[in-house]
Amino acid sequence: MQRRKFLKSLALSPVLVAGANLDFSKIKGRASIIDLDRCDGCTGFDMPKCVSACKEKNAARFPKPVEEIPNYFPRKINEDYSQKQNDISRLSPYNWTFVEVDSKKIFIPRRCMHCDDPTCQKICPFGVISKDKNNAVNIDEHFCFGGAKCRDVCPLGIPQRQAGVGIYLKIAPKLAGGGAMFKCDMCADLLAEGKKPACETQCPKNAIIFDDKAKILILSKRLKSRENSSMAIRKMAERALFTFLLWILPKSMKPSLKNMKIPGTAYES
Ligand code: SF4
Ligand code: SF4
Ligand code: SF4
Repeated sequence: MQRRKFLKSLALSPVLVAGANLDFSKIKGRASIIDLDRCDGCTGFDMPKCVSACKEKNAARFPKPVEEIPNYFPRKINEDYSQKQNDISRLSPYNWTFVEVDSKKIFIPRRCMHCDDPTCQKICPFGVISKDKNNAVNIDEHFCFGGAKCRDVCPLGIPQRQAGVGIYLKIAPKLAGGGAMFKCDMCADLLAEGKKPACETQCPKNAIIFDDKAKILILSKRLKSRENSSMAIRKMAERALFTFLLWILPKSMKPSLKNMKIPGTAYES
């Protein structure tokens, strides 16, 4: 069944809705699933399509640092990725999603999870991290001082700093944070136009799905029952941090995921 029809059937299914036991009035915004059973890392391509789509979509927002980046007290080095813009092996201010490969050759696309109660937003001393009605968490790079507190408290270390760019250069180039932070914004502008995020559109395996959070929850239950698959819910509600990105995993993945440094990961099989 095509995915659109599949999602439509989920939305119309009273059995599934009742079975999911969800209070839809309390479930707002969007969430996403990355189906690791479907993701093959785009091994036939030069670059994973989700990564190239993200780079292309966000190129205009990538930082353009000054030529001579000043040092600031007390640090002697800066975080400068401007000469490594083609490095897709990690997150950077020029690469907002990347595909990690685990020891069992399972491909794991990584990016911001747009937490329901984002610690990055709570800690930001300048209030430049916002969350919109779609649940997209965004850093305003024009007013960010680059202190990197958001990265320190993010359970996945997602935001990345580029030195030599941002408001600190005008206000306190020797003392302030030292750059601006960058990360996935859920393609908030595309969502506002009723379009899908670029990585979802370009994924050849339909492994990335953004949708209403209630539908994602129901879809996750359906996918969980798929033969040979299990679902890992990255659920940190107990720690006052509720992320809403679900990974649908092959069963063989569970042991290796346990080795990843993700606090509060809960498993269901
Ligand atoms: S999520 Fe899709 S686009 Fe990204 S690596 Fe996997 S198959 Fe390719
Ligand atoms: S994953 Fe990290 S950067 Fe993204 S919303 Fe959560 S705390 Fe913030
Ligand atoms: S949602 Fe948009 S910004 Fe985030 S990883 Fe996908 S393409 Fe990049």
